[in-house]
Amino acid sequence: RIVVVGSLNADLTIYCDRLPQPGETVQGNGFAVNPGGKSANQAVAAARLGGHVSLVGAVGEDPNGAMLEASVAGVGVDVGHVRTSAEPTGVAVIAVDARGENNIIISAGANGTLSPKDVADAADVLEGAAVVSLCLEVSMDTVLAAAQAGHDAGAQVLLNLSPYAEIPSALAGLADILLVNSHEAALFLGSSVPGAGAAASEWDAVRSRFGGHGVQQVLVTLGANGSVVLDSLAPAGSRVAFVQPTQVHAVDTTGAGDAFTGAVAVRLAAGDGLADAAAFASVAAALATTRKGTQAAYPEAADVERRLRT
Ligand code: ADP
Repeated sequence: RIVVVGSLNADLTIYCDRLPQPGETVQGNGFAVNPGGKSANQAVAAARLGGHVSLVGAVGEDPNGAMLEASVAGVGVDVGHVRTSAEPTGVAVIAVDARGENNIIISAGANGTLSPKDVADAADVLEGAAVVSLCLEVSMDTVLAAAQAGHDAGAQVLLNLSPYAEIPSALAGLADILLVNSHEAALFLGSSVPGAGAAASEWDAVRSRFGGHGVQQVLVTLGANGSVVLDSLAPAGSRVAFVQPTQVHAVDTTGAGDAFTGAVAVRLAAGDGLADAAAFASVAAALATTRKGTQAAYPEAADVERRLRT
């Protein structure tokens, strides 16, 4: 079982030709309300790919909350530990430009009320977890409690360092696998990471720096350039593995990282090693960018396997 602890947001998305600069107003050319939130997205991505998933979270007693719960439950995610809060459901205001680039503002709402007590209340599902998947859209105390519970249950703890925040060293130590994009990797390490086409030796130095922070396994996603697996637990010589990008026509990259995380969780829970999980996730995330929206754009296992065969 995969247990995802974290956020659910209603995504309020406007499509536009280009993103506005500060102080500027641009004309949009379409609006949609979609289910989102990094954790709900991860849960849906994993469930659509065939994972058995429980989500631990909080929503408001409002139409957005009902919509979000229906969306995750609709793909078979167990929502027995999604509770209601007096706070409104979290929302994300998203702009997507013609190239599929986005910028996002979030109001946490009910997500901000998710607490270590909610983690304790979810002991029944956490006890049987193979993978616990986390992001930073809920309080650090809650993330830490969930990481500890996952660790104690013998699960692999997968931490998506997004939206970026400094994490306590205890959390870095509890995360079996850190999942970051290159921006988050640079913030975590305090200096930039290599660009596309860099040599394995450059990434090996990055791997060592993560190791210095107590993180042994890292997946760095590089957008359209694929991803890199940094695995200090692998034999020398195979500690850096590049995952080539899957060529697609991207129309909306919102939630690509969440699709990647959910897909990694599914493959880890199925017993894959990190590099195989990343290869599968790379295809799943690429396919997710080819359709507008987030959860509704996520592929099924058969879609990914078909693409892996071609
Ligand atoms: P985030 O969405 O968290 O910023 P990235 O932009 O790195 O993360 O995207 C996550 C993953 O999604 C990438 O590693 C890649 O597998 C896939 N992806 C994102 N954008 C594209 C794209 N334009 N073409 C192919 N794959 C993509």
